[in-house]
Amino acid sequence: MRKIQMVDLKGQYAAIKEQVDASIQEVIDTTAFINGPEVQGFQKELEAYLGVKHVIPCANGTDALQIAMMGLGLEPGDEIITADFTFAATVEVIALLRLTPVLVDVDPVNFNIDIAALEKAITPKTKAIVPVHLFGLAANMDEIMALAEKHNLYVIEDNAQGIGSKYTSKDGTKKMTGGIGHVGSTSFFPSKNLGCYGDGGAIFTNDDDLAHTIRGIVNHGMYVRYHHDVVGVNSRLDSIQAAVLRAKLPHLNSYNNARRNAARKYTAAFQGVDQIITPTGYCNAGNSICDTCDCHVFHQYTLRIINADRDALVKHLNENDIPCGVYYPIPLHAQKAYKDDRYNEADFTVTNQLVKEVISLPMHTELDDEQIAFITKTVIDFVTK
Ligand SMILES: *Cc1c(COP(=O)(O)O)cnc(C)c1O
Repeated sequence: MRKIQMVDLKGQYAAIKEQVDASIQEVIDTTAFINGPEVQGFQKELEAYLGVKHVIPCANGTDALQIAMMGLGLEPGDEIITADFTFAATVEVIALLRLTPVLVDVDPVNFNIDIAALEKAITPKTKAIVPVHLFGLAANMDEIMALAEKHNLYVIEDNAQGIGSKYTSKDGTKKMTGGIGHVGSTSFFPSKNLGCYGDGGAIFTNDDDLAHTIRGIVNHGMYVRYHHDVVGVNSRLDSIQAAVLRAKLPHLNSYNNARRNAARKYTAAFQGVDQIITPTGYCNAGNSICDTCDCHVFHQYTLRIINADRDALVKHLNENDIPCGVYYPIPLHAQKAYKDDRYNEADFTVTNQLVKEVISLPMHTELDDEQIAFITKTVIDFVTK
């Protein structure tokens, strides 16, 4: 059996090596390192793929979120609601901009922002909601957009883990995540579903004025050369990274299908094991593992371990050369940087439980049946012993 990797970037590279190498060499030969044709080309191709009017490439996914918030003209003291169970970047940029983060609990089934908790957290100061399509599963955008409309709020989608996911609305229409809210962001960190070979990110919007504002913000607040109209940042996608992304984008659907196939095999093997709750879809296409829909792109394949020792399982898997991860071990509301007296533990029962139960298994495009069989057998033998 091949050695099991949490993420297999080498195997994926081997399959597209010729094209990636040639594209990178082309950037070096032309020395168009900054904002070269590869960046513009990638931007257009990603716009077409997502069906979104504007893609604004930038330096990483954290910048993308920050710049999206800057573009909306949010002011210090404005309250921004997001999920307690996500990567810290989401709340970090809110705090960095001196906006007020309001963390709320998540849904135990889909791990995404809980709609009732979200609604309860809305105050007259609330200006935006940041849903995260956590682990690659689309958040419940119908409900979120309806609440946003009712309360006149912006929706900023953190799509760092969800690129390529299609949300199915109640009326059956499908939309790519990231282009449903007023503005969306993603990350091209190497291990993300569409990863480059360094750092990268992008902002999405269908709003022409917002796109214009954001294009200036990423470039030192300049709309006319050397005229700085607003305080901006310097956040660019390197041409070399854009070249890698252009080579990979045409494969994104097949990469996501490979992840879904691996997820189905994992889930089939875990059926009937009482100690394991497998990840479930929550989409309006209405089935559990999304056999017929594509709302989950399995950035992570995350189990809940109940009535068994999750931490001992992590140790056991590592001893058997099976990498795994705990995303995330501490709720954001309990992190030193984001503690706030206004928070009440009773409002975070789901996150507090999930951090003790979740474990993410190896998930990437190159997993084979022998590896999946070994992983599932090792997990099941341990939790049922
Ligand atoms: C990875 C990630 C980010 C940040 O992306 P970077 O490119 O690492 O800055 C933000 N939000 C979520 C949910 C992520 O998973």
